[in-house]
Amino acid sequence: SSQVTVQPAAGWNVVSTALRPAAGMQKYAYQSASYDELADSPIEVGTQKVLNFTTNNTPHQVAMFGPHTLPDEARFLADMKRVTEEAQRVVGQNPLDHYLFIVHNTEAGGGGLEHLYSTTLGARPGTYANPVAYTNFLRLVAHEYFHLWNVKRIRPIALGPFDYDHENYTHMLWVSEGQTEYMANQLVQRAGFVSAQEYYDQLAGVIGGVENQPGNKQQPVAMASFDAWIRAYRPDENSRNSEISYYDKGELVGLVLDLMLVQATNGQKHIDDVFRLLYDKYYKGLKRGFTDQEYQDAVAEVAGRRFDDYFQNYVYNTRTLDYATALGYVGLSITSAPASPNGALGATVVNRAGHYVVTYVKRDGTAWNGGLNANDEIMQLNGAAPTDDAVKQAVNGTAAGTVLKLQVKHGTQTRDLSLTLQPDPDRKYQIQPTPGATPDQQRLLAKWLSR
Ligand SMILES: [Zn+2]
Repeated sequence: SSQVTVQPAAGWNVVSTALRPAAGMQKYAYQSASYDELADSPIEVGTQKVLNFTTNNTPHQVAMFGPHTLPDEARFLADMKRVTEEAQRVVGQNPLDHYLFIVHNTEAGGGGLEHLYSTTLGARPGTYANPVAYTNFLRLVAHEYFHLWNVKRIRPIALGPFDYDHENYTHMLWVSEGQTEYMANQLVQRAGFVSAQEYYDQLAGVIGGVENQPGNKQQPVAMASFDAWIRAYRPDENSRNSEISYYDKGELVGLVLDLMLVQATNGQKHIDDVFRLLYDKYYKGLKRGFTDQEYQDAVAEVAGRRFDDYFQNYVYNTRTLDYATALGYVGLSITSAPASPNGALGATVVNRAGHYVVTYVKRDGTAWNGGLNANDEIMQLNGAAPTDDAVKQAVNGTAAGTVLKLQVKHGTQTRDLSLTLQPDPDRKYQIQPTPGATPDQQRLLAKWLSR
């Protein structure tokens, strides 16, 4: 164990940390039982405003750093409480007797990091006054808070105790991160912050993002997890062609799995029951993480049958998830249509101080097939110097079949390219209730939504 004493700078009189106060009366002295606990307990020292709420007898603090506008503090705390209540309901056991949200209100905004008894969140100062940004903030709160179960306690073997000297490899971030994101969106929906249709729209948006990304057909989500150290966290100009996010794909693998569990158990069980089983068996019982195989065994125990083919095809390979069948179990249908009626260049072009530079070329798109490369600079577009408007037209604002004449600088070479715009391959998806859904489908829908 160790003790930490904070000596705040002059004018800084607030210390926020989930570490427990050390024995004795010394101010700003904290104790930790182990190095892991110390390293996993951020300490915010400054002039932050500290708010409090209680969920099921557990005190929660919210340390708000940085200037921000909070139009309705009481409602903010009530909403935080709603999210934490819904999250606690999933596993049904709260391992903590206190919890701390550290919120950094800065223009950088966004993102969060989970810890043992706390989390750090980023939010832009205007977040709480903007309905869309506010719902996204509650989604982030749900995500990081649900991590106190999934990752911090329900975890694959590699994710704790950590080997601080080496990378920690796991195939399971599609569970640890992807299903945390899946549950975050479920929780925001269960808590009533979005309607059922808004929830369907959110899922359809994620489906579009995943299915329109070429890397989804190249990299199994289990490998996206395993290679996170060398790929996801070191993105390059080809990442979208060769990789898929274990957050987004993991969310969708979780979606289809949840629907399959509801269907297989005739509405008796859902994904929450898998988290409960893992929590009881591995965290509380065996006091360790689980293997890939043990995760699949836990799903089988809840479902009453094995889903080996599902994991093999969609997690360890790149087969396209069968959204239509899974959504059909609960009386929903999914349709898709071209994302744009225009042709698509299949490239991202950015204006860098007047230089139009290609930063991404989409696999199998117009630019890919026509010989345009990332880092090429467009010198001439249809015989004239490129402009923002002309580039925008060329990228996605012109009919398929249109011929573009490009002169590009490729390293030290100058190349003349003639590209015939292919139709935009991207699709947008829509999920809607199927008219005439049966009472059984409606019963399974109610279980899946768990409102
Ligand atoms: Zn996360």
